[in-house]
Amino acid sequence: MELDGKVSLVSGASRGIGRAIALSLADAGSDVIVNYVKNVDAAQAVVEQIQAMGRRAIAMKADVSKSEQTDAMIDQAQEELGTIQILVNNAGITRDRSFMKLSRENWHEVLMVNLDGAFNLVGKLLPDMVESKWGRVVNISSIVAQMGNFGQSNYAVAKGGLIAFTKSLSREVARKGVTINAVAPGFIETDMTAAVSKDALDTVRSLTPMNRLGTPDEVAVAVRFLASKGASFITGQVINVNGGMYM
Ligand code: NAD
Repeated sequence: MELDGKVSLVSGASRGIGRAIALSLADAGSDVIVNYVKNVDAAQAVVEQIQAMGRRAIAMKADVSKSEQTDAMIDQAQEELGTIQILVNNAGITRDRSFMKLSRENWHEVLMVNLDGAFNLVGKLLPDMVESKWGRVVNISSIVAQMGNFGQSNYAVAKGGLIAFTKSLSREVARKGVTINAVAPGFIETDMTAAVSKDALDTVRSLTPMNRLGTPDEVAVAVRFLASKGASFITGQVINVNGGMYM
C-alpha cells in the first residue's frame, strides 16, 4: 500500500477533520499516532477503528501548545511505533471576536495552539525526517487566511502564518526529500462550524459555487495525496478544499 511502513502523527485527531485524516492515512497503509487533548474516549475509538483496518495506532494526550508535552508524547510514541515521517498539523482553535472586543488572551490562545503547536511538533520531528531523507508535513490552514473574515483576525493571522511557514520551511528542506505543504479548507461540517450561526452559514453557502459546506473526508483526500510517496515534487503549496469559494 501507498504508505506501508510509514508512521504518521495527526494532531487533534479525536474528531472532525483530524479524525478523518487519521483514518484516511491508515487506509493508505500508515500506522497512526492519534493525538488528543481532552476526549480520551473519542481518541480511543479512532484508534480502535484504525486497528480494525490492520494498522497499528495509539492515542497520545498532549496539548500541542506546550513543548514539554509534545516532546514527551513524541518520545513515547516513537518508542512504541517507530520514527514518525508524516506529520499533520491539524489541531486548531478559534476564539472569535471583532477586533475591538478581542482580548490579548484570545489573540495569544489562538496563536499558541495553531502556530506554536506546529512549531513544537515540526521542531521535534524535522531533524529525523531530514536525516532519513524522507518526510511529509501537511499544515491545516484555512480559507480565512486567504480571504479574511469578520471576527477572526486572530485566527486569520495564525492560519496565514501557517501558509508563510509552509513556504519558508519547504525551501529549507526541499533538497532533503522532505515536503512541506498546506491544505486550506473552506467551511467544513464539524464541531467548529457547529458554533457558527445559521445565518452566517447560509451566507457561506450562497458564496460557495457548490452551495454547500464540505465534509471532513473531502479535506482528508487532499492531505492523503500530499502525504503520499508519489507527491514527491510538490512542496510549498497550498491546496484549497473549499467548493470554489476562493479561487
Ligand atoms: P474541531 O474543533 O472538531 O477539531 C479541532 C481538534 O483540535 C479537536 O480535536 C481539538 O481537541 C484539537 N485541539 C484543540 N486544541 C488543541 C491543543 N491545544 N492540543 C491538541 N489538540 C487540540 O474542528 P475541525 O473543524 O475538525 O478543525 C480541524 C482543523 O481544521 C483546525 O486546525 C481548524 O482550524 C481547521 N479548519 C477547519 C475548518 C472548518 O470549517 N471546520 C475550516 C478551515 C480550517
